[in-house]
Amino acid sequence: MLLEVEGLCVNYGHIEAIRDISFGVPEGTVTTLIGANGAGKTTTLKTISGLRKVRAGAVRFEGRDITTIAPYDRVKLGISQSPEGRRCFVGMTVRENLQMGAFTRKDRKSQAYRDDIDRVLALFPRLAERIDQVAGTMSGGEQQMLAMGRALMSRPRLLLLDEPSMGLAPKLIAQIFSIVTEINQQGTTVLLVEQNAMQALKRSHDAHILETGSIVRSGRGADLAGDPAVKAAYLGGDL
Ligand code: ATP
Repeated sequence: MLLEVEGLCVNYGHIEAIRDISFGVPEGTVTTLIGANGAGKTTTLKTISGLRKVRAGAVRFEGRDITTIAPYDRVKLGISQSPEGRRCFVGMTVRENLQMGAFTRKDRKSQAYRDDIDRVLALFPRLAERIDQVAGTMSGGEQQMLAMGRALMSRPRLLLLDEPSMGLAPKLIAQIFSIVTEINQQGTTVLLVEQNAMQALKRSHDAHILETGSIVRSGRGADLAGDPAVKAAYLGGDL
């Protein structure tokens, strides 16, 4: 397992956002968390990237306990997040946003760094066209691509993607999902959080269903996507 989460409990004050969650993300996979609004998906990702403290439980990366280490040190270890709502630096250009994604790297003058910029621009040609455009003037879909590209610039071993399809038109959603598959095929392990459950499950190796802070089902993505009970309960029929 690249990432293991064990017995994780996270609170906001008295609210138990997640309760005793355990799961693993095998290296090389796309693993997906699905669930309704408020199920605890974002909290789980934030806890893995170190933005929320745990009340109990552990987060392990490559077998190492990282539960208490700072978020920027987790980025250095190889964990990077594309947050819900994109959170691009809206006053900065596309190029500057990508540079910010590489902030923790010491090799910013190297060929490896230039290769990574090229890789991101090849994945997202739209960003190449807009390299000097200010991020705040771009469309939602373009900002989503930028948030993902920025996260890739730290060269993550594990990419955390929080609702990359949110608010996008169906054609763009399909494009974003196929780019997620491509990123994974290039060797990056992905932990994906999605409300667009059916499309996400179909593209995932493993998946876990969260309900009010607990995991209620786990399985292969394709199996869960085809399970009538899961469809009826979580996928709203033919989502
Ligand atoms: P969504 O898809 O709506 O983002 P989610 O599955 O990602 O939902 P979380 O955002 O992790 O769910 O929220 C889990 C629970 O924690 C919810 O009950 C939510 O109201 C609560 N919560 C989240 N953020 C905060 C906060 N900053 N303060 C208080 N409660 C919070």
